[in-house]
Amino acid sequence: MIPAKTALVSGASIAGPALAYWLAAHGWQVTVVERAPELRDGGQNIDVRGAGRTVARRMGVEDGIRDATTGELGTEFVRSDGSTVARFPASTSDTSGATAELEILRGDLARLLVDASVGSGTAGSGSSDAVEYVFGDSIAAIDDQPDHVRVSFEHGGDRDVDLVVIADGMNSRTRRLVFGSAPTIRPLGLDTSYLTIPRTERDSDWARWYNAAGGRTMTLRPDTKGTIRATLSFLSTPGAHAGLGPDEQKDLLREKFADAGWEARRILDGLEQEGDLYFEHIGQVHAPRWTSGRVALLGDAAWCASPISGMGTSLALVGAYVLAGEIAAHVDHRDAFRGYERIMRPYVAQAQQLPPGAPRLANPRTRPGIALLNTAARIGASRAFRAVGGKLFSPPADAIDLPDYSHLVR
Ligand SMILES: Cc1cc2nc3c(=O)[nH]c(=O)nc-3n(C[C@H](O)[C@H](O)[C@H](O)COP(=O)(O)OP(=O)(O)OC[C@H]3O[C@@H](n4cnc5c(N)ncnc54)[C@H](O)[C@@H]3O)c2cc1C
Repeated sequence: MIPAKTALVSGASIAGPALAYWLAAHGWQVTVVERAPELRDGGQNIDVRGAGRTVARRMGVEDGIRDATTGELGTEFVRSDGSTVARFPASTSDTSGATAELEILRGDLARLLVDASVGSGTAGSGSSDAVEYVFGDSIAAIDDQPDHVRVSFEHGGDRDVDLVVIADGMNSRTRRLVFGSAPTIRPLGLDTSYLTIPRTERDSDWARWYNAAGGRTMTLRPDTKGTIRATLSFLSTPGAHAGLGPDEQKDLLREKFADAGWEARRILDGLEQEGDLYFEHIGQVHAPRWTSGRVALLGDAAWCASPISGMGTSLALVGAYVLAGEIAAHVDHRDAFRGYERIMRPYVAQAQQLPPGAPRLANPRTRPGIALLNTAARIGASRAFRAVGGKLFSPPADAIDLPDYSHLVR
């Protein structure tokens, strides 16, 4: 019996487990290494749209996603007293609308994908251990040889594998080991923080969006845990807050939002007990190549399009499906990697095209700017303009012809 080919995947969020699922389905043996000590359950509602949803269906997780949807009714723009400026009901199509039909907490989706991957690869091989997860470790060195890759781990030990896939996010350090400084992160001038706070009777199942002067925005969104997912975003100079520790990040948020009004006090109070604060300067990754030798980039590590695109999850799911499918379809990994880049490049390029003026237009600095945004939201939400309003939030989630690799599943 020919031994199974082996892959090492860095990052257990969305892209990594999805790839592990598909590689195992194609008969590979996969190890996923995740730096965090356990699966990270933080993050907010994320959208599974278009081709991403088709991939989820092919993985057999679409029903699981539907069962775990947050039930968000739509998005409301509000004034400082909480009154409604404009309402955009949840979309009934899977590609348009600020609230997509399949909204799921990022941590819940990661859990679904990990569970699916562990059950993958069992059909033909009779093995239930095709996918292994290693938490609390990461790749320290990669030695890419013509016939294998030797990987060394931070916590000691080496491993030889056929391929390495780096799926560890926008700020991937592993990427640098192989691709150096060629991939660039284009900062978008917006710091965003995600946190979970207690639900109160003022909350509903509508997502609420509030703009404060100074380019500050707050959102509150329902979840499935009886709590509320909050964001605090503000326009900022790229790099200004890089390298802050969690306590410094909290201090910065308290200072920035102290006089922001609406629910700012309550959200800032939530920082006191916050365990899963996730603070980032949003940006996009642009990499001239996603593959080198026996190593490939995947997901945000390869092409982060930013949360503004609404496409991060769908791109990760589709990219994982295509990369694994191309690997299964070719004897030589170089042909597989060429196919992967050829199929994914146009899809990613469209997703990275953000609406003009993003993110500044959605985060006005002045009160007249906010009044203008609110007027635009009111018009967009009106019956006559609803279709246009929907299109404003319609990412190109279906802009790819998904290849069929079902004949390669073992
Ligand atoms: C905790 C968290 C919360 C998020 N919240 C949101 C949100 O609310 N809204 C939104 O739009 N997007 C959010 N994102 C980003 C979103 O998940 C991605 O844009 C998208 O789903 C693509 O996922 P990905 O798997 O490519 O990368 P990511 O989701 O960024 O996952 C990368 C994974 O790699 C791990 N990792 C990082 N460095 C290493 C290393 N050196 N070695 C091993 N593992 C490493 C990380 O811990 C993480 O699990 C969040 C990501 C994380 C990790």
